Amino acid sequence: MADFETPTLKPYPVIPAIEIGSMAHSQPFVAKEDHQQKLGFPGELVDDWENVAVKKLGELVDKSRALRVFLDSCVKCGACTDKCHYYLGTSDPKNMPVARQDLLRSVYRRYYTLAGKYFPSLVGARDMDKSVLDEWYSYFHQCSQCRRCSVYCPYGIDTAEVSMAAREIMDTVGVGQKYCNEIIGKAQTIGNNLGLPEPALADTLEGLEEDIEEETGVVVRMPLDEEGADILLVTPSADFFAEPHVDGLIGYAKVFHQAGLSWTLSSYASEAANFGMFIGSYDNMQKLALRIREAALELGVKRIVFGECGHAWRVAYNFLNTLAGPFDFLDPDYPVPQHICEVTYDLLQRGALKMDPSANDDMVVTFHDSCNIARGSRMGDFEGGQLVIPRAVIKASCNHFVDMPADAIGEGTFCCGGGGGLLTDDLVELRVKGALPRMEALHEVTEHHGVTHLAAICAICKSQFSKILPYYGFEMDQVVSIHQLVSNAIQLDGQQAQ
Ligand code: SF4
Ligand code: SF4
Repeated sequence: MADFETPTLKPYPVIPAIEIGSMAHSQPFVAKEDHQQKLGFPGELVDDWENVAVKKLGELVDKSRALRVFLDSCVKCGACTDKCHYYLGTSDPKNMPVARQDLLRSVYRRYYTLAGKYFPSLVGARDMDKSVLDEWYSYFHQCSQCRRCSVYCPYGIDTAEVSMAAREIMDTVGVGQKYCNEIIGKAQTIGNNLGLPEPALADTLEGLEEDIEEETGVVVRMPLDEEGADILLVTPSADFFAEPHVDGLIGYAKVFHQAGLSWTLSSYASEAANFGMFIGSYDNMQKLALRIREAALELGVKRIVFGECGHAWRVAYNFLNTLAGPFDFLDPDYPVPQHICEVTYDLLQRGALKMDPSANDDMVVTFHDSCNIARGSRMGDFEGGQLVIPRAVIKASCNHFVDMPADAIGEGTFCCGGGGGLLTDDLVELRVKGALPRMEALHEVTEHHGVTHLAAICAICKSQFSKILPYYGFEMDQVVSIHQLVSNAIQLDGQQAQ
């Protein structure tokens, strides 16, 4: 049983009174020596680590003008203080975005500003010491890098970037986070976060093909490593077996099948997620991105499509070309990766898919915008497409859709509570408490509009909700994949009546 109390759902959002230090105890497991070393980091806290950390911070602010501006420009206006789900759910003032930034800013000021060097106490500058490192380890692992705070900051200060920098410094001195670093190591050596080898993957896909045939009477293929296919689908590895992710994968396959598109998965690049971003490590992010390039070249594909994963889409949309480009070998009509929702939306717009939304009449659906998609990327060729397109796909697939309150969706969407490399059981208290604002918004539409299901577009969100919903009195199977709804509604040629 959990040794913490699940927050109480309130009918409207309440900004909590502060409880100093209430989450100071929350720290994820530290990475083991081999997890660190595989990623090129020291296996344990290095000698002279204080100087190593300060030097690394200097390198990071020299390399990133944005980071330096973020650290220099906060005016303490307070606009961000009540915008973080972790503050709203935990009441710990160090989970206010400005306070989180100050954990790093105070050290930056001490060593890299004139005032901090000569009058540290006047400008809130601090020496880098063990108590600072401990605070960093705790509170920079209480930021899901969701960027909600940056939407409300008049200067656009992005706490996610500050948090990534702090995690990179901690890795550099030998204190990394076990969950992220172990996963990155697996994806870099085996090809996916779960460590699923090729035979297991092939078996799983074969089983899914049989399931679809049994359900529909139609042979829908799930090709793996098929040279000469037009499309390489890169999807989060959770799609291969976990509920409700796998139902989404079935949906992608049905869409490709019905549209007559030739596609394949790759066992070498069998992971869309890129946890290198969460630890702020360009090198590790690049190693993972290069696997996608290598697989695309090896298989000779013309297009790359990403499955339902929030941060993977952010990396694909914003950084893939820089990390692993140029992708000049792809079809000039599709020179950049597409999201599976863009593919389905496009086909729907062209009338290329037959849908029977009544197949989902047992559900009243709402939609959780994933942070990295809503605030960190784009879909389609129009402004706000990343908010419109997933909803259009859902509405084409079901008759009953209700959005949650306006301040809890779209650009202002609340994190699921498990993003940014925090989806680990050693942080379950944080995950439960951080989910509070999303659960309150869900509760509102459940109570007033009869919503029964929460559709999600991100593997992390889906896993987080499956775990967290029961803490708030919901059922774990109330979360569904967008392409699960598509899968239920799509009418395949030759499909037997249900
Ligand atoms: S990025 Fe998200 S999790 Fe991090 S401080 Fe801002 S609102 Fe909180
Ligand atoms: S909103 Fe921006 S400027 Fe204002 S306190 Fe927060 S980070 Fe600083």
